[in-house]
Amino acid sequence: MTKVAIYPGTFDPVTHGHTEIIHRARSLFDRVIVAVAKSRGKAPVFTLEERVSLIERVLGDLPGVEVCGFNILLTDFSRQKNATIIVRGLRMVSDFEYEFQLASMNRHLAPDIETVFLTPAEHYSHLSSSLVREISGLGGDVSQFVHPVVVSALQEKSKWR
Ligand code: ADP
Repeated sequence: MTKVAIYPGTFDPVTHGHTEIIHRARSLFDRVIVAVAKSRGKAPVFTLEERVSLIERVLGDLPGVEVCGFNILLTDFSRQKNATIIVRGLRMVSDFEYEFQLASMNRHLAPDIETVFLTPAEHYSHLSSSLVREISGLGGDVSQFVHPVVVSALQEKSKWR
């Protein structure tokens, strides 16, 4: 049976931490769908289309991985995509409470979908999109945290802000 996993997030923008989780998930499951949430409540800096396009460019042609945007309930989108596993990244203890709440709610909504947590390499455990945006916005170097196409996209954004 084909195991399809969905990795949802805002990805504003995609970092090396995210890409590492995608690669780890791909080594465990047959297909991985990177599901980019519109996340209007978070007022993302990059549009949904930009966030999808950045992930596609960062990943290149990675077999078994699909990137798509969504703006509906995650459990409904997972069903549409025949995904039975939700992948989330756990960095530090501080992620735990929110992630535990989210996983419990998703289980309540869809008991047939299992959430699994993957941890990044230690050197990415302090990495977040919000820190990357902040450092880049203040003129700092983020090239060790994100792909070069993301570095350029961040520089381009800061010109207009
Ligand atoms: P969300 O708005 O859903 O939290 P994010 O794009 O911030 O979206 O994160 C998506 C998922 O990726 C979350 O499970 C988050 O914990 C995980 N994640 C983010 N950054 C990292 C990282 N550096 N290492 C591992 N997982 C990460």
